[in-house]
Amino acid sequence: MGKVAVGATVICVAAAAALLARHRMNCSGRWAKAMAILKDFEEKCGTPIGKLRQVADAMTVEMHAGLASEGGSKLKMLISYVDNLPTGDEKGLFYALDLGGTNFRVIRVLLGGQEGHVVKQEFEEGSIPPHLMTGSSNDLFDYIAEALAKFIATEDEGIHVSPGRQRELGFTFSFPVRQTSISSGNLIKWTKGFSIDDAVGQDIVGELTKAMDRAGLDMRVAALVNDTIGTLAGGRYSNKDVIAAVILGTGTNAAYVEQAHAIPKWHGLLPKSGEMVINMEWGNFRSSHLPLTEYDQALDAESLNPGEQIFEKVISGMYLGEIVRRVLCQMAEEADFFGDTVPPKLKIPFILRTPDMSAMHHDTSSDLRVVGNKLKDILEIPDTSLKMRKVVVKLCDIVATRGACLSAAGIVGILKKLGRDTVKDGEKQKSVIALDGGLYEHYTKFSACMESTLKEMLGKEVSENIIIELSNDGSGIGAALLAASHSQYLGMDESF
Ligand code: ADP
Ligand code: MG
Repeated sequence: MGKVAVGATVICVAAAAALLARHRMNCSGRWAKAMAILKDFEEKCGTPIGKLRQVADAMTVEMHAGLASEGGSKLKMLISYVDNLPTGDEKGLFYALDLGGTNFRVIRVLLGGQEGHVVKQEFEEGSIPPHLMTGSSNDLFDYIAEALAKFIATEDEGIHVSPGRQRELGFTFSFPVRQTSISSGNLIKWTKGFSIDDAVGQDIVGELTKAMDRAGLDMRVAALVNDTIGTLAGGRYSNKDVIAAVILGTGTNAAYVEQAHAIPKWHGLLPKSGEMVINMEWGNFRSSHLPLTEYDQALDAESLNPGEQIFEKVISGMYLGEIVRRVLCQMAEEADFFGDTVPPKLKIPFILRTPDMSAMHHDTSSDLRVVGNKLKDILEIPDTSLKMRKVVVKLCDIVATRGACLSAAGIVGILKKLGRDTVKDGEKQKSVIALDGGLYEHYTKFSACMESTLKEMLGKEVSENIIIELSNDGSGIGAALLAASHSQYLGMDESF
């Protein structure tokens, strides 16, 4: 009996040990599987310098193609009708309205000419209610016009337009628009999560003007631009060497100053300045050299605009967090990364926003507390080990690095097009690129990586002449400046 009992105990212990070993093996097997998914993703996202050069070259080639003919490239290279960037002479009270993503702003600027520059500036900010992003264009424009009317009602006694004069507005509308003049254009398509069927093809200024009428506002839209053009104009006002502007926010885009004679599809008169600002709409760039993964393909296929804005979907703020979520979800599904079940919240598209990803990526605490809290608060994953948190940080790093490197390659593409990617005969011509957008401004690791990649691609000597300048809301002032330089009262005696 005693013997049997001993024997049974031995068998029990052996069985338990085997179970434990299997469990350990399962755990390490799962871990290995999760790491394999991570590694595979990292490899596919790779941006070695050779690849970045190919991307930059492809950008330059597409720029040429888009300038040559309508529809010649994925890059629309839209003519902005801005052929005179601000000089500093602009004078008077002007408004700007910025609509282009998560937020919108109304701005009032008092311009004082060469001596005064920006005498006074006021703004108010609001967010677009999500239901208006997919509703009707009337509702969206009414909402904006009403916000504008409220803002105008706060005009000071001292600062107002001269009696009998219409107020003038620079409208920053950051979606692809085919311009027909400086102050008119038709919407080509929505991007960045907006989807309003009845607005595609619409005369944007006409719609806003009707909404302003409905809101009882007598106001003239003097300039229709987008955030890149606004940023370029605002940047040029404060620095004469600004030649391009790049937005890295919810979406991404770039604009630059082109020689008008180098635009084959421009059939208008050559402007006096000889220059024309081109709105690249670079978010729609795509190339076989882009390091895309199955996660990017799935994100695109399930997006509101499949097949479009591929560059934007790899580098901009709307999508970076979502890419991280998709990889984490795969790791949870295929390798039980978060345990036996997949955390339900992890399956919700866009639940992990880029600002949260950025907060995790920048976590410097020894136990990665911020990462742990974000996973708990957003994805409702209560317990995560330090090891797991490190993997999440690594994932953020892979996604942000790829986006930042590709943004740098895009900028090199523009510099190449302008012949500014080399130093000619010891020339010390500075090229300043005005950067704006929440992603660039707040995601420090992203912007640092972009700038160091740019230096690496250009080399030391050229880099000394290329300056990236944060143009914090230069876009609003830029639009107001363009409204001023296209004012119907231009040349008349102005007293404000
Ligand atoms: P928009 O592009 O909508 O005009 P912004 O330029 O302010 O507005 O950019 C907002 C976007 O910037 C957000 O959608 C987000 O993707 C990104 N962003 C904002 N804050 C951060 C942050 N702290 N870290 C990373 N990205 C951020
Ligand atoms: Mg913006």
